[in-house]
Amino acid sequence: MQMPASRARQRSTRASWDNEMTSMPSQTMRAVVFDSTLRLVSDYPVPQPSPGWALVQVRTAGICQTDMEIMRGYMAFSGVLGHEFIGTVDQCDDGSWPGKRVAGEINAACGRCEWCRAGLGRHCPNRSVLGIQGLDGCMADYCVLPTTNLLELPTDIPDDRAVFLEPLSAACEILEQVPLSGGEHVVVVGDGRLGILCAWVISTLVEDVTLVGHHREKLDTARWRTIRTMLSAENVPPGADIVISATPCPQSQGVPPGTSATPGQQPPGHSGPPTPTSCRAG
Ligand SMILES: [Zn+2]
Ligand SMILES: [Zn+2]
Repeated sequence: MQMPASRARQRSTRASWDNEMTSMPSQTMRAVVFDSTLRLVSDYPVPQPSPGWALVQVRTAGICQTDMEIMRGYMAFSGVLGHEFIGTVDQCDDGSWPGKRVAGEINAACGRCEWCRAGLGRHCPNRSVLGIQGLDGCMADYCVLPTTNLLELPTDIPDDRAVFLEPLSAACEILEQVPLSGGEHVVVVGDGRLGILCAWVISTLVEDVTLVGHHREKLDTARWRTIRTMLSAENVPPGADIVISATPCPQSQGVPPGTSATPGQQPPGHSGPPTPTSCRAG
């Protein structure tokens, strides 16, 4: 196994004091692991990048409702949690990547199936998903992803802002799911992080956006552009053209049904495997 450059530096220092007859310590890292219980370990194996994949040293990781759902059994996932990160490419077989600061598309598609050939890799039935399905996540010192999933970040966006890129992309997916003319009456249900991001994204195209939630402080944070906020769905005027569900339990908010979309889930009209493409509501 080739050692990440930064760890190689640490190891060379340590090796200088270790007796040369003792074997090198195994290559391990810190990781937040869930396997029916949640724990922080310091001896998790550093992942090895396959050909075409990169080893990324994690700088910042986000915590998401999806992580909470996983701990309640969602996707029956066990392994390293986390799918929202900013990192620096440490190793990969393409020499142009190491050292670059990146975010990553979390779905690692197979590239060979019918869905992938149709350009729908995020719905590939054979894919793995960072920290959600078949692939250890980013709440660790290192994670791996295909280089085709990586996005180099401009230097003027700091890590603590850039780490919102992944949930923001889930909100932006609504614009792909539902064609908007700008004249619609849109109601976003749920004042969690994803609901607020959805309202912000929709408000860049649509003037009439109402965000409904149960938390005054969060609704105050969400006010931007022409967005209206409401503590109770009872005050929302009837006749919404589109209702965006960004809460695990939209019925609890009592919003009447309209055309609905759920961020980060399968586009209407697509049949196929259910998909944890991105952040879930919460
Ligand atoms: Zn595929
Ligand atoms: Zn997320």
